[in-house]
Amino acid sequence: MVKFADAVVIGGGIMGASVAHFLAKKGLGAVVLLEKRSLAAVSTGHSAAVIRTFYSNDLTIRLSVKALEMFANGEDALGGDCDFRNTGYICLLGEHTAAAGLAVLEAEQRNHTRAVAVEMDEIGELVPGVNADGIVSGIYEPASGYADPVRTVRNLVTRAADWGLVCYEGVGATRIRLSGDRVTGVETDAGEIRTELVINAAGPWGRQMGLSAGLNYSLRWSRESDLVMRLPDGFGRFPVVSDPNLRVYFRPDGDNGLLAGLSFPKEVEPVDVDAYDPDLDEPTRRRIESGTFKRVPAFRQGEYLKGWASVYTITDDWHPLVGTEPGLEGYYAFFGGSGHGFKLGPPIADSLSDVILGRTPAFDLHPFRPARFIEGEQFASAWGGGNRG
Ligand SMILES: Cc1cc2nc3c(=O)[nH]c(=O)nc-3n(C[C@H](O)[C@H](O)[C@H](O)COP(=O)(O)OP(=O)(O)OC[C@H]3O[C@@H](n4cnc5c(N)ncnc54)[C@H](O)[C@@H]3O)c2cc1C
Repeated sequence: MVKFADAVVIGGGIMGASVAHFLAKKGLGAVVLLEKRSLAAVSTGHSAAVIRTFYSNDLTIRLSVKALEMFANGEDALGGDCDFRNTGYICLLGEHTAAAGLAVLEAEQRNHTRAVAVEMDEIGELVPGVNADGIVSGIYEPASGYADPVRTVRNLVTRAADWGLVCYEGVGATRIRLSGDRVTGVETDAGEIRTELVINAAGPWGRQMGLSAGLNYSLRWSRESDLVMRLPDGFGRFPVVSDPNLRVYFRPDGDNGLLAGLSFPKEVEPVDVDAYDPDLDEPTRRRIESGTFKRVPAFRQGEYLKGWASVYTITDDWHPLVGTEPGLEGYYAFFGGSGHGFKLGPPIADSLSDVILGRTPAFDLHPFRPARFIEGEQFASAWGGGNRG
């Protein structure tokens, strides 16, 4: 293993792979990516990977617009084709969710997305066979869709190898080394790498890595599951559907599949990130199927293929932690995706790499700084909490 690097990125999920990619692409020098398991092995590889602009904050909307542009042009923007599928995205609104949905629409229109309000007849056309119980209207985003998260991460890393990125899979960072108020290296289970720049992109272990540098992050972890079914041939097209009333979401999966999961508002299900059962449990499977089949009864014709459980790493305002820590030179946080970080990873990483290189970033990332909580400037969302942002 190398003994020196210009930067060490800890964690090979979407956050770490993206920032390592852009740092290498922009010529930082010797960039090392450490992944203790395999690339995209944890939250990213189990993500529904939906890319939508459905947010009530200007910054996250603008980042998501950029994300859509990047995913749709994966070859140029992300090192390879990410299998982005432009299915569209619809959020179904009931009486209790209409106000939040309209606040989102207003924010989206203010930021010039193509989101529109849709009435029941249009919803019926967009989601054939939909059961309209409890729905009063919807917000539809024609430009949205989903990508292949594992392929995305592999592309980012493989392409960046051409620019000198060195990635070690199966090598865990054990400690960030400091001398006074400066980063001096990263200890790993395969030896130490001396560096003056470290990016903590350890996802669910972001807090643990932070502690090794004397930083105490407030995070919660929730068990989150998805299942995949095969639909009958010729089932027909439908967009990504978010259904806060029945608390499920679902989307196509490839050419004749369905991927579905539970959506917020749902309770956080605390999980030990070092010891959880990665299989879909029966009660959760029943809850996902119940909501999904209620909304589109024809999905019952599908055949269950597989399911899994993974982790949301949740910050106190459900937005990622990105940036420096006061009084600590050479350290950047980049974790806390809070159940919606897949899409945000690449555009934030692009700007974060500019900040690190002393260039002007396309997006001002200051609102994501970890110190926002003690400074009383956390994000607010039209939905209260939750990953709908
Ligand atoms: C079921 C589910 C559905 C989701 N759906 C969506 C969605 O539709 N759209 C969306 O935008 N987001 C979604 N998300 C959220 C999104 O997937 C996450 O926010 C995002 O993947 C987090 O990326 P990450 O890189 O921070 O974390 P991770 O992908 O967990 O990566 C962190 C990596 O760091 C490694 N690591 C940790 N500690 C160390 C160490 N000490 N040394 C070396 N490596 C280390 C881990 O092994 C891991 O691979 C979903 C998440 C889940 C679980």
